[in-house]
Parts: sequence; C-alpha cells; structure tokens
Amino acid sequence: MNKEYSRIAEELKRASILLVAVSKTKSTEEIMELYVAGQRDFGENRVQELREKYELLPKDIRWHLIGHLQTNKVKYIAGWVHLIHSVDRLELLQEINRQGEKAGRVIECLLQVYIAKEETKFGLSDEEMYSIFNNPQLKSMKFVRLCGLMGMATNTNDESVIRQEFRHLKNLFEDVKRDHFSETDSFKHLSMGMSSDYKIAGEEGSTMVRIGSLIFGERTN
Ligand SMILES: *Cc1c(COP(=O)(O)O)cnc(C)c1O
Repeated sequence: MNKEYSRIAEELKRASILLVAVSKTKSTEEIMELYVAGQRDFGENRVQELREKYELLPKDIRWHLIGHLQTNKVKYIAGWVHLIHSVDRLELLQEINRQGEKAGRVIECLLQVYIAKEETKFGLSDEEMYSIFNNPQLKSMKFVRLCGLMGMATNTNDESVIRQEFRHLKNLFEDVKRDHFSETDSFKHLSMGMSSDYKIAGEEGSTMVRIGSLIFGERTN
C-alpha cells in the first residue's frame, strides 16, 4: 500500500480538490495499485501511451490528457477521453469538435494558459485565451465543452513567484466565468498544482491537481 498516496488523497479529498494521478512512464501494475486503493482519475501526457494504457486497464478509469496534443491525434482518444487539459489553439478545438461529433459525444476541455516566467512552447497568452472565449465560432461547436483553465507555474523555489502565477490564473478563471459562463455551472475546473507546488495551488483556489512523482516516486525515464 502506497502511504504517500493515501495521505495526499485524504488531504485533497478534505479540501474538495480532485487528484489526477499522473501516471506517465509508470507501468499498468503501478497504476493498478492506486486503482485498487480507489483512485480513478489518471493523467498522461502522450497520446500513444494513453491509448495503450486505456486498452489494458479497467474501463471506469477517467483518463485525462495533460500534455501537448497534435491535431492529427485527436481521433485516437475522442471516443473515451475524460478531460483534455491542454487545448492551446482554436484549430485544435475545431478538430476536437469534429471528432466529438463523429464519436457522438461532447468532449470536455480546458484551455492551457501560459503563466510561467519560463520559455515554453505550449499554452496561450492571456490575450490569446480571451480571444478564444470571444470567438463567435465557439457557440457552434456542439461537441466540445470548455470547462475551465489549466496552467503550470515556474519551476522555482521562490514560493512568492509560484503563488503570484497561480493567483493570476485564478483571476483569469474568475473573469472568464463571469463574462462567458454566468448562466451555467459547467465552467468549474481550475487545473493547477503538481508535486512541488500543489499546496500553494490549493491555497490559491485550485480545484484539480496533477501529481506524479510524489505518489508514484521519481520518474527514471
Ligand atoms: C508530468 C506532469 C505533471 C506531474 O508532475 P510531477 O512533478 O511528477 O507531479 C503535471 N502536469 C503536467 C502537464 C505534466 O506533464
């Protein structure tokens, strides 16, 4: 039994924060250990690995895609993915909508916003994010549901930097919710916090954390 998992799962449950166990590079046996302990939400960052694990593991697992998604790979996961955290362009959203229609289901998505002070290729700027929510095409996309935002803080020991970045994301979230989703409760997920910063994320209003190494142990590959 994984003591660290039990402790963190308990702690997050008390705070009503959803734990997404990030299982990238981990074996199906390691995943099953947490499954048996009650964990159902798992996150992967690569489509190929996600598909393989989906095939092999129990069908009541809720699979989260947390890594960069290429447009041409949406079709492989559209039929069953639970939540895509990493939507970072309108073109991708359009393809998710197309594949959702084919699969006959509404696919829930988060927009990934770039909040860190680091070089990264992925994530929307604040302006790009606002422009997606303001895009009139969004209304006609019946097979995607935008449910919130995701972001990653700078990888630093300076807590105040991390806190400030999370606070900024929370503010964006509240802005969008007020301006675009005041009539519905579907816009409700704020996916922020990983092993090193999930406590700060929780204090700053996270509803969903993505934790890998802290519960599975360090990744070796
Ligand atoms: C790997 C990964 C995580 C988890 O990282 P840990 O530091 O192992 O908790 C969270 N979010 C994303 C997007 C990741 O790729």
